[in-house]
Formats: sequence, structure tokens, C-alpha cells
Amino acid sequence: MTFEYAPAPESRAIVSIASSYGLFINGEFVDPTGGTAFKTVNPATEEVLAEISEANQSDVNAAVNSARRAYDRVWSVMSGRDRAKYLFRIARLLQERSREFAVLETLDNGKPIRESRDIDVPLAAAHFFYHAGWADKLDYAGLGPNPRSLGVAGQIIPWNFPLLMLAWKIAPALACGNTVVLKPAETTSLTALLFAEVCQQAELPPGVVNIITGAGDTGRMIVEHKGIDKIAFTGSTEVGKSIARALAGTRRKLTLELGGKAANIVFDDAPIDQAVEGIVDGIFFNQGHVCCAGSRLLLQESIAEETIDALKRRLQTLRLGDPLDKNTDIGAVNSREQLNKITELIKSGDDEGAQRWTAPCDIPDKGWWCAPTIFTNVTQAHRIAREEIFGPVLSVLTFRTPDEAVEKANNTPFGLSAGIWTEKGSRILWLAGQLRAGVIWANTFNRFDPASPFGGFKESGFGREGGIQGLTAYLRSATDGDDQAKGMS
Ligand code: NAP
Ligand code: MG
Repeated sequence: MTFEYAPAPESRAIVSIASSYGLFINGEFVDPTGGTAFKTVNPATEEVLAEISEANQSDVNAAVNSARRAYDRVWSVMSGRDRAKYLFRIARLLQERSREFAVLETLDNGKPIRESRDIDVPLAAAHFFYHAGWADKLDYAGLGPNPRSLGVAGQIIPWNFPLLMLAWKIAPALACGNTVVLKPAETTSLTALLFAEVCQQAELPPGVVNIITGAGDTGRMIVEHKGIDKIAFTGSTEVGKSIARALAGTRRKLTLELGGKAANIVFDDAPIDQAVEGIVDGIFFNQGHVCCAGSRLLLQESIAEETIDALKRRLQTLRLGDPLDKNTDIGAVNSREQLNKITELIKSGDDEGAQRWTAPCDIPDKGWWCAPTIFTNVTQAHRIAREEIFGPVLSVLTFRTPDEAVEKANNTPFGLSAGIWTEKGSRILWLAGQLRAGVIWANTFNRFDPASPFGGFKESGFGREGGIQGLTAYLRSATDGDDQAKGMS
């Protein structure tokens, strides 16, 4: 039974949203030279929140020039200790303004306030704290003598964790002495623009961080810009491949964090109630818009029925609705386009003969929503077992032996994450060694920490974010030429 909770909406009075925003270049908000703009909406209500500027080629040039000047004159010659002070300041301001960021993220993205408040914003601040700690210790990190920055980094991020992905990109780049030009996703620019205000508040030297908004075309202009030394991209595998092609043969460095189709593997000796919580966290967290989501559940055959029954019972208690309500578990899907993509893949599951179960939910009249959905009788050949759905949809497969679990888990072009549920430590270690995935959780799922490197194998990309490993993506290696930092490519 589900208790009826009284509504507990978080007030939106703490945020003030402007009717329109400029581009953040050289420490100031400026109008886009082309004068074009697009609207950003609240996906839970379809209300227009603000007009966002669309950066064209001359705006991208201005942002890159500003980043280059700041790099040459200020940031690359500043001591690590002084850079750290700015990063600590930014981290503290994110904490101080955390409620404002959480409400704004929920309004623009549709994710439950509980998640933006307890996960996105605290983790974003943690990334700045963590990297602030590294800024003056790079010489002692085992990264070789006198590690040096790359120059200007172009960074492109998706809409599923807007502020958090920004932090994953900007914090290590700045800690290592680089300056940045970052583009948020078209549907979720607002927290990046509020972060620009935080940069002003922290008195970060102008040009160290430039935030330019726009659609895919603006992203492409960043990728192709010859004044940029490194591209860091998080997004779909398809766009990631086109970026890899564009940069092939240049001296520009690249890291790609792409899609996933993670296996969450439950053995018959796992504590089922805990595993059910982990399965729910794995795929229904953030409406399933999570690159490392546990979207393929692999159940040992002997416990399959029992686990699926327990899972269905648990899913009936999830609350879908107003993302600003503190009781909400499932928020809105970020855009109509994404909902269409999810709906199309659900239909393919029906058409290909998998068995669908959908949690009973009242779907609000306005906005874009998808009730938690489970497919059983799924085979490896089904599209819902192979393609990333990026929504609250779980595909359940079964296995009999550990070897079969490994084979099924690895039978995917992706390799971002995996989960293992078992009581046996030896099995965890053995299995973790067999799985081709960058991040493997045991008896938990979707845990993140700035000290822990995150990244993929195969079509999930290359390069790591977080930890010492993440620093190497923003430092020159011994084999890089000296022209790297002068923007020659
Ligand atoms: P996307 O379409 O690839 O977009 C990602 C970013 O790239 C957006 O800012 C987008 O701008 C921009 N972009 C689009 N076309 C571009 C082009 N030709 N050149 C340069 N930039 C371009 O991905 P998405 O649908 O927003 O995000 C979902 C995907 O991200 C999923 O596949 C998910 O798995 C992946 N993801 C991976 C990680 C990870 O760490 N591995 C983390 C989160 C998400 P617009 O928004 O304006 O189109
Ligand atoms: Mg929006």
C-alpha cells in the first residue's frame, strides 16, 4: 500500500530567472552577435522559463580568444596554490547557493528536487573541493616532473546532469591550469549560466571560464576550432564518433564520455531486498537518463520470479509527479524529443515480443512523462536489450551460470558500468575482472565520488574523469610537442 503524502513542494522563490540571457565571455554577459535565441522550458509544465542566446562562429571565436588571453596572461602563469584558492571559493559558493542551484536545475531539467538537492549539487561542489586540493600538488601526483597544462579546453556536455557534468569538466581543467570554453546542452543551460555568475562572484579572472550557449551547431564550431587544444565531450556515442573523426589527424587532444547499456547482475545468494533497492536506483534514478544506468538486469534463473515480483511491488510505491515536490521519486522526461525516443523503443519491445509491465501512475496532463517500465522475456536480439533507451525502462534477462552472466553482460558495444550482487567476495573479484566496463559496483549501484575515476571501454568512450587519472586528461604528457600550449594544431 502507498501512503498518501501531503504535497511538500519546494518554493521556487529562491531563484530569479531573467527573461533572457547573454553569452558569458571574458567575465561578462554579452549579447550574441547574430542576435538569435531559443527558449528553454520546464519539462514538467511546458512553461517557458527564459530565452537563451545562440552562439555563432564569431561568438565562438570571441570565447576562444578570451580563453587564450586568460591562459597566456593569467592562468597558466599563476601558481597552483593561487589557482586552488579560486577553486575553493567556487566550491564554497556552490554550497552557499546550493538551494538556488537545486531548484533551478529541477525547473530546467525536470529531475526530482530530492536528487538535485542531495546528489547533483553536493557532488558538483565536491568536485571543486577535490580538484582545488590537487591544484598545488600536481608535482607530487606521480604524473612526471613538472606537469604542464594543455591550453584552452573546449567542453561540451549533455542535459541529464547539467551542473554536475559542468563540474566534472571545469574543475579538473582549471586545477591543471587550463582555461575553458564550455557549451551546456540546449535544453538545460540555466544552471551553467548561474555558474557563470558564481565565477564573477568568486572574482575568477575574466576569460578563465567562458560559457557559450547554443545547439549542436555551436558544439560543432567548438570541436572544429583550431585555437582549442583539447576537447572533452560527454554525450551520445553517435556525436562522439563524429567528433573523433573531426579531430583525427590533428594534435588536439580528446576525451569522450559516451553512452552505456550496463548489466546489473544479481546472483541467487544476493540479499534480494537490498538488490531490489539497487535495481531501482540503477535504472529509475533521474528517470533513467543516466549514461551508467543499470538498464539490463541479469537475474540468476532460480531467483528471477521472486525478484521480479518484489521489484514490481516496490515500483508501485514510487511517486511520479511534480519534480519540485520533496516526495517525488520520478520527475519529468527532459524533452518531448527524448520522450518520443523512449516511446519508440518501448514500442519496439512490444513489437519484438517482450512482455511489458508498467507501474500504475497518474500521468500529469502537461509536460513529458514516462511511468517506470519493465520488460521480461527479453532476448539479446531485442533492440531494448542492445540500444541505450535513456529512460525509465528496464530490460530483464536471465542466466544460469556465472560464465553465462559474463557472456551476456559483455555482449554489447558499450562498456561504461556494471553491477554485481552476491554475498561472495571471491565471486565479485572474479567477475569484476571479466567484465569489460569502466566502473563496476558491487552490492550497490550509481555511487559517485570525485576521487574515483569514471569512464568507459569500447563505444562508451575513452579517458577518465575524476581521481588522479582524470588529471592526466588536462596535462601534457612527455610525448606532446611544445607547440601544444600555443594552440597550434
Ligand atoms: P548529444 O545529443 O550527443 O548531445 C551532447 C552535447 O553535444 C549537447 O551539448 C549537444 O548540443 C552537443 N552536440 C550535438 N551535436 C553536436 C555536434 N555535431 N558537435 C558537437 N556537439 C554537439 O547527447 P544527449 O542526447 O544530450 O545526451 C545523452 C547522451 O549522453 C546519452 O547517450 C548518454 O549516455 C550520454 N552521457 C554520457 C555520460 C558519460 O559520462 N559517459 C554522462 C552523461 C550522458 P544540444 O543539446 O544543443 O543538441
Ligand atoms: Mg529546460
